Amino acid sequence: MTRIQTGVRLPMENKTVVVVDGDDASPEVMIPTVNILESMGLPITFQRPLIGQQAIDVGGNGFPDEARKAIDNSDATFFGSTSGASTAALFYLRWGKQTYANVRPCLWTPGYKSPLANPAGIDFTIIRENLEDLYLGLEGDIEELQALNLYSKHARTPLSDLSPGKYAVKAITEAGSERVIRFAFEQARKRNAKKRLTVTCKYNMLSTSDGLFLEIANSIAKEYPDIEYDHYIVDDFLCRMIVNPQHFDVIVMPNLYGDIMSDGAAGLLGGLGLAPSGCYGQDYAYFESAHGTAPDIAGKNVINPTATLLSAAMLLEHLSFHSQAKNLVNAVQRVYATGKVLTPDQGGNSGTTDFSDAVSEELSIHPE
Ligand code: ATP
Repeated sequence: MTRIQTGVRLPMENKTVVVVDGDDASPEVMIPTVNILESMGLPITFQRPLIGQQAIDVGGNGFPDEARKAIDNSDATFFGSTSGASTAALFYLRWGKQTYANVRPCLWTPGYKSPLANPAGIDFTIIRENLEDLYLGLEGDIEELQALNLYSKHARTPLSDLSPGKYAVKAITEAGSERVIRFAFEQARKRNAKKRLTVTCKYNMLSTSDGLFLEIANSIAKEYPDIEYDHYIVDDFLCRMIVNPQHFDVIVMPNLYGDIMSDGAAGLLGGLGLAPSGCYGQDYAYFESAHGTAPDIAGKNVINPTATLLSAAMLLEHLSFHSQAKNLVNAVQRVYATGKVLTPDQGGNSGTTDFSDAVSEELSIHPE
């Protein structure tokens, strides 16, 4: 549909967002966050189709057709972390909807309890390829591989010498790499920050697979002369990320490294409770905190909702509610700047609900 620019401000069209509250401690952060989104009075309908344990209890299937249809008919999904029952829905959001770029921003904010002496100025985004690499689920017995008589001139050990055990396939495709690397370069342009793109993977030891990822990045970099480009082997990158995190702007990497490095990046800020995430495809996107379900603190009202609130802001941004996304981020940042209502992971003794209420209050005081 072509949008006509008339100069007249048209009312925003209604959006639909599917909400999955998730497992263990996830509902404790999802429910107050969705309440806050609802209180913002935006033209968004939030739908909670039965998914996960509730759906199993009702019909024996954790991801029924109605839930899939609700996702297909929605503008985005807001997903609480899952420890099992709603995994089928997560796999659909990821591989079914081909959400290939997992964006994990890492922005230090005054008040975060960083372990670093000088965290000011940390502002980078990790872009993790979200569908390939070692996450294909292609695993099995080594004997199955031996039967294929595979040969590689790079092999350090002949397959025939491997004793019984298991294998996992790591695949880096040209198309999969190209789309996420291009996405990352575009982000570096859009962010309008340091305009730097860093690529990292293990291209020395895995010179064929990760070597391809680097080769594609080297080639695409030539199309972006306005973006400073560098690359590091992933172990070197990790050290640099800890020693000089302020150097980085946008960093793109294959799936497994992205999973690990982004948790490490959250650690630089002050922990997993602070790390938001969004997964973007050509036609769909979903948003969830980078952390898991935190089962060890479930039911204690201490889980930090910041990652979920900031993921909600990414959702608003995606739905083109730009100023409201900024307002939500500002409200979270003001609660940290005041430093009176902090959850235990940030050195405070307030509960999840206290923190969410404080953000809600900030939003009502400063709605703009
Ligand atoms: P996954 O494999 O799904 O990423 P995980 O096993 O790595 O999950 P998490 O659920 O992410 O584990 O939790 C790791 C640790 O971080 C736990 O001790 C958990 O309590 C803590 N944690 C995670 N999220 C938060 C949060 N929002 N607030 C406070 N602590 C958190």
